[in-house]
Order: sequence, then C-alpha cells, then structure tokens
Amino acid sequence: MALLEILTYTHPALRSQTEEVTQITPEIKTLIDDMVETMYEAHGVGLAAPQVGRLIRLFVYDVGDGPHAVINPRILKSSGEELGNEGCLSIPRLQGDVPRATRITVAWQDENGKRHRKSVEDFTARVYQHETDHLYGILFTDKAIPSSLHMIEDAEEEEALAEAA
Ligand code: ZN
Repeated sequence: MALLEILTYTHPALRSQTEEVTQITPEIKTLIDDMVETMYEAHGVGLAAPQVGRLIRLFVYDVGDGPHAVINPRILKSSGEELGNEGCLSIPRLQGDVPRATRITVAWQDENGKRHRKSVEDFTARVYQHETDHLYGILFTDKAIPSSLHMIEDAEEEEALAEAA
C-alpha cells in the first residue's frame, strides 16, 4: 500500500465532475487500499477519489466500524434536515455547520462489484452526503452556513481532524 497526496482546495480536481467506475480492476482495488491508508494517516473519516486526483465515482469511509469502499453511489431518497459541524481533509483547519438530510437511501457497489441499497442516518448519512458531493465537485464550504465557518487553532486540531472528511 502507499500513501497518496491529498489535494487541497485550489486544485481543479476538487471542482471537477467524475466518471462512473465501469470495471473494478486490480488497479481500482489498489487505489481503494491506498485511499484507506491515506485516510487513516490523515485521521479522517472519509476520502473521495477526486481528493487524490482521480476523477472517478469512488469514496472510502470509516465511521468506527471498519473501512468501507463505496463505488458509483446514488442517493435515491433523503429526508429530514439537521445542522452538523464538518471539516474536510482538502481544506485543512476550516470547519463549519452544514445542513444535511438526516436520513438517506443510497445505492452503490462495493469493491467486489456487489450492489447494495440501504438507508443510513445521522453521522453516517452526513459522511455519505459529504463524500458524494466531492464526486460532483462540491465542497462543504459551498453548503455551510457562511457565518459558522471558522479556522481552528493548533490545540484543537487533533480533535477536529477526527471529524474531517
Ligand atoms: Zn471532504
């Protein structure tokens, strides 16, 4: 496995559209492994392919139950709305409150090509929405309440990274 460079917010890849993954090749599986390793190294809870310069519809996340790969995600339904604090590994130290659906139904493929469809809620739903936005060139700052955006200090950084995606 290898650590990948996480691109930051001025990089055009973060504002680009992505393409569907049509075949889960060994190269895609290696990319997934590398993205998981990179996410853990950065103490993030999620990482999307455009953040490492790959314009394909793939993200990885871990909300405490181990790593997951999500390929070609589609949000089929969403309901409810709640504000929650977010950060992003591509926008170091910035945080803000973002309104997100509380509950979503998502369809995706895993790293073996198996199709899934499931409803997720709360923090997991937030991570899915944040990461899926990355696949459309959308950053959390586009949706955050502007007055809530703030830079965090050194001392808070460790704790804040745990929320970055
Ligand atoms: Zn992010």
